[in-house]
Amino acid sequence: MRIRHLICVLIFVGCAGNAVGETGGGNAQKSASENAKDSLKKAIWLLEQTPSGKEELAQAKSLNIPIEAGTVSKTEITATRTQSASEEDSYKILVHVLIAREKDPVFQALDLAHELTHAIHPKENPFDPKLDPTQYVKDGIQGKGGEAPAIAQECKVGKELTDLPVGVITEETAQLIKARCSFVWKTEADASKWNQSFYYLGQYYHDFISLLKKTNVATNTKIAWVNQIEEKSPMFASAVAHKPYPLALLEEYMQITRIVCEKTMKSVASQLSGRTIASLSAFQTAMQIRCRGFGRKDDSSATSDSSQE
Ligand SMILES: [Zn+2]
Repeated sequence: MRIRHLICVLIFVGCAGNAVGETGGGNAQKSASENAKDSLKKAIWLLEQTPSGKEELAQAKSLNIPIEAGTVSKTEITATRTQSASEEDSYKILVHVLIAREKDPVFQALDLAHELTHAIHPKENPFDPKLDPTQYVKDGIQGKGGEAPAIAQECKVGKELTDLPVGVITEETAQLIKARCSFVWKTEADASKWNQSFYYLGQYYHDFISLLKKTNVATNTKIAWVNQIEEKSPMFASAVAHKPYPLALLEEYMQITRIVCEKTMKSVASQLSGRTIASLSAFQTAMQIRCRGFGRKDDSSATSDSSQE
């Protein structure tokens, strides 16, 4: 049996549902946990009644993705990197979906449609030395499991729920879904307009630029980002970070990179200071490029309140 050493474990939020359109629910006669279970069961049942939601649930089942009640709807990803005695790297991820227990089952079903899009297509390997902030933010928004497809799917399920026979959902709930999804239904057909609507940063515009300056991407890439983002009021925001997605994702990238780099650079330093200088692994050498500028004491990304919880 080959021995593998655990090198690093990262837990990060693969997503946080969109912070628009929340409603309460609950039954005082039952315990909170019973209510949460009943509510989530009903949400899963509702999702099963819709054609696209049913397909997502089948995929989630085949991938053994756990779905549980939580304080906020999110997809949690636990990434683990291990190394064998022969220094061969291996990488594993575990995906876990949590659905806000306080919400009405119909809105839990919409959140579930959203989160399963992330969970079925999880993010890039956070330990990839080539992973850069541009790729991370772009994929986090426009990738297969990004926010744009997740919100589109959430509203597709919303449309399918409003098409179900009268009585499955109330007229009042149907109106709330329409309010939540009308912008999405109106905009998503135009792919460039739809994707661009995720780059409205409003009051966070300058925060994004400040953080972008701290990354080690090339100057022309920074200019391209400044040209892409807009100061218009945000249409979508992370429910965990309470910030528009580009900023929430960039903060997440910085935090993940800081953790991975601290660990990697520590091991590099200890190897280089030993009596016998061990040669650096291919991973350590490649990571030095991604880690340029990370891990310093004055690196303010270390204190950013990114969406890792
Ligand atoms: Zn999301």
